[in-house]
Amino acid sequence: MSTAVLGVFLIFRILNMSDILNNKGFNTRLVHADRLINHPQDGAVHQATNNSVLFDYPDIQDLVDIFQGKVAGHAYSRQSSASIDALQNMLTSIEGGVGSLTFASGMAAITTTFLALLQQGDHLIMSQFVFGNTNSFIGTLRRYGIEVSVVDVTDVDNVAAAIKENTRAVYLETIANPVTQVADLLPVGELCEQQKLVYMVDNTMTPAYIFDAKAVKASLLVGSLTKYYAGHGQVLGGIVVDTGLYDWQTYPGIQEGFRGLPVAQQGLMQIKKKGLRDMGGCLTSESAHAISVGMETLALRMDRSCDNALQLAQYLEQHPKIAAVYYPGLKAHPQHDKASQYFSQYGGILSFDLHESVDCFAFMNKLQLVLNATHLGDTRTLAIPVAHTIYYEMGAEVRADMGISDNMIRMSIGIEDIQDLLADFEQALA
Ligand SMILES: *Cc1c(COP(=O)(O)O)cnc(C)c1O
Repeated sequence: MSTAVLGVFLIFRILNMSDILNNKGFNTRLVHADRLINHPQDGAVHQATNNSVLFDYPDIQDLVDIFQGKVAGHAYSRQSSASIDALQNMLTSIEGGVGSLTFASGMAAITTTFLALLQQGDHLIMSQFVFGNTNSFIGTLRRYGIEVSVVDVTDVDNVAAAIKENTRAVYLETIANPVTQVADLLPVGELCEQQKLVYMVDNTMTPAYIFDAKAVKASLLVGSLTKYYAGHGQVLGGIVVDTGLYDWQTYPGIQEGFRGLPVAQQGLMQIKKKGLRDMGGCLTSESAHAISVGMETLALRMDRSCDNALQLAQYLEQHPKIAAVYYPGLKAHPQHDKASQYFSQYGGILSFDLHESVDCFAFMNKLQLVLNATHLGDTRTLAIPVAHTIYYEMGAEVRADMGISDNMIRMSIGIEDIQDLLADFEQALA
């Protein structure tokens, strides 16, 4: 075949693939989208991981054009590479955004986004129910002169009451950890839209498969790829997705250098240059590939984890040695109706308080299948006594504010066979 004919054939095949995937389901798109976007070489099904830090251009003009942002391309792998592009394209596509950036970890994504978009004198409204390390970073933001108000985001009125003249953004998690409070997602989104605030949503607990971030008007999705996306506890990664819903023209914190770009790109480009490039928390090619492979089974794993979690929650709810169960899928959960509105399933995280007559550590040591480990979103079921570990550093008062008791165990439910999980709990509680 001549090169020209081959070229036409390839373009046809790519266009055809795009048409084919257009109206297909989540799983179909997930496992075929990489072929569509990356044209892997030599028939390779996986995008090859490329460890090159540098990129050579025989015509120096090409390198200059990349540096000046006139054409897309790679110059140095701290900012971009083909493996990273492949993962970012998958994530942008399944989250329904206009662009995304990947980072070395969820915390790198979250902290970089704050530091790239906020400056001294700005005000941030943050949920009182956030991941422990995100909560810990509030202190750092304050030391840099960024004001932070911490509010109960299960009611939009609390967010509205905290808005000030210098408020720039609202930050919350969809389902919070460990007590599983569900944020007032859509009303807060509408408030942010009306007040022109950046609405940052950490959807680590509820990836695209079970949650439509655009339906609640999120501006930026931030979070961890380490959890459900990668799914097997073998790689760290973080993500920022721009949903395209926020009008960056109205954001006062866009620096001069980025004002010349098309409006839709301004926010993400500032996070990329001032954050990812300057602060350097980049993902490696190998990690990107490991996450991409894990993601292929995202929906299968979520279905199974959510299903197992609901059954286990229902079992624990009626057990006399359990004082309380926190799971949005239970009718008794205070935000059960909201959870049903926003999520197609209720997630794989549940927590419970043991009856005070049961010794927490002794009970945990009796569980045979369940791993005593921090982390969540794994294929295996994990348990951790949160007051003594993740939330130890913040002290009793903050824990009480967050609804965390000393006898609380947080579970991340895996994909094991449910009868085996139920039997493990039955014997440990006997
Ligand atoms: C784990 C987690 C993070 C941090 O992600 P890492 O990849 O561990 O850095 C952020 N937000 C939430 C809700 C998390 O569960």
